[in-house]
Amino acid sequence: MSARAPAFAEALRGRLRGEVREAEPLARYSTYRIGGPATVVLPAVAEDVGLALRLAHEEGVPWFALGLGSNILLPDSGLDALVIRLGKGLDRLRQEGERWTLGAGMPAPLAARRTAAAGFAGLHVFVGVPGSVGGGVYMNAGCHGGDWSDVVETVTVVDAAGRDAVRVRSQVPFTYRRSGLEGEVIVETTVRLRPEEQHRLDQQIAEMFEWRQRGTPFNQPCCGSVFKNPSGPSWERQDGPRTAGQLIEASGLKGSRVGGVEVSPMHANYFVNTGTATAADVRGLIEQVQRTVEERFGARLEPEVKLIGASGEYLNPELSP
Ligand SMILES: Cc1cc2nc3c(=O)[nH]c(=O)nc-3n(C[C@H](O)[C@H](O)[C@H](O)COP(=O)(O)OP(=O)(O)OC[C@H]3O[C@@H](n4cnc5c(N)ncnc54)[C@H](O)[C@@H]3O)c2cc1C
Repeated sequence: MSARAPAFAEALRGRLRGEVREAEPLARYSTYRIGGPATVVLPAVAEDVGLALRLAHEEGVPWFALGLGSNILLPDSGLDALVIRLGKGLDRLRQEGERWTLGAGMPAPLAARRTAAAGFAGLHVFVGVPGSVGGGVYMNAGCHGGDWSDVVETVTVVDAAGRDAVRVRSQVPFTYRRSGLEGEVIVETTVRLRPEEQHRLDQQIAEMFEWRQRGTPFNQPCCGSVFKNPSGPSWERQDGPRTAGQLIEASGLKGSRVGGVEVSPMHANYFVNTGTATAADVRGLIEQVQRTVEERFGARLEPEVKLIGASGEYLNPELSP
C-alpha cells in the first residue's frame, strides 16, 4: 500500500491517539522550508509511534522519522512514506538527581535551558542547536567540544516492527555525527549531567548564545552545516584552510547561488533559502561547491545534511546509514 492511500490514513486514525495529516506540506517541518506533501503522523504519546510503525510494517509502507527538520533536505515531490514527526506529546522532562529523562520531541535548546536553570551542565552546549532531543541523539549532534554521546546513558527506541527496546550507552555505536541507530525511532533518552555553579553556567550560555548570533544566519531558512569538516591524517597535516567553511570561503564561493539557494555570505558552510529554493537547487549548489573545492584544494566535502529520496531513503547512504 502507498503511504498516500486514504485507506492507510484512515487505518492510522483508527489506531492512534495522535493526529494524522494527509498531503501535509513537509516544508512546514523543515528549517530549509523545502519539501512537498506526505502523510504525517503527530504522535500524542510514545505508544502511537509503535502503533504507526506496526501498521506501516503490516502494509509494507516505508516510513521516516522526523524531528525539528534542522538537518534535512526533503524532496520537492514530498515523500511516499509515512512521516512520523516527533514533537509535542513526546516532550516531557523528568529529573532524578543527576539523571534526566527527556522525551525525543523536546527541542534541544529548551532541554539545554531547563537543565542549566536547575544547575546542571552537559546539555547546556546545545542552547543554540535548533533540533529535537531525538534528532540530536540520532545525529550525535555536538558543539563547543561536547556531543550527545558524552551524556547519554540509555536510549528508548521503537524498531521497524513496532517493538520497544532500551539501548544502554555501550550498545549505541556513536561516532562523529552518527549514532548507528538507523532503522529505529528514538522516543526517549536518559542522560547523566553534572552539577555546576549557576553563575558559571549562565555565563557560558550567554557567551555561546552570543557566538551563535554573530555567526549564524538565523533570520533566513537554512539547515546548519551543509558539509562535514574534512578529516584524516593527511588532511590534518595541511596548512591553510581546514574546515569546510574555510575551504568554501577560500574557494571564493560565498554568495554563490543556484536558483533560490545561496552560500551564506555570513557563514560559508551554511546555505540559505532566499525564498524560492527547491531541493533540486540545494543539491545543485552542493555539487557545484564540492566540484570547486575539490579542484582547488583536493578535498572532497561530504554532506552532513541528510539528503532524502522520494520513499524516505537516504541519498547519501555511504554516510547514513
Ligand atoms: C542554524 C543551525 C545551527 C546548527 N548547529 C549545529 C551544531 O552546532 N552542531 C550540530 O551537530 N548540528 C547543528 N545543526 C544541525 C541540527 O540542528 C542537528 O543535527 C540536530 O540535532 C537535528 O535534529 P532535528 O530534530 O532537527 O533532526 P531532523 O533534521 O528532523 O532529522 C535529522 C536526522 O535524524 C533523524 N531523526 C530525527 N528525530 C529522530 C528520532 N526521534 N528517532 C530516530 N531518528 C530521528 C531523521 O530521520 C534524520 O535522519 C544546526 C542546524 C541549524 C539550522
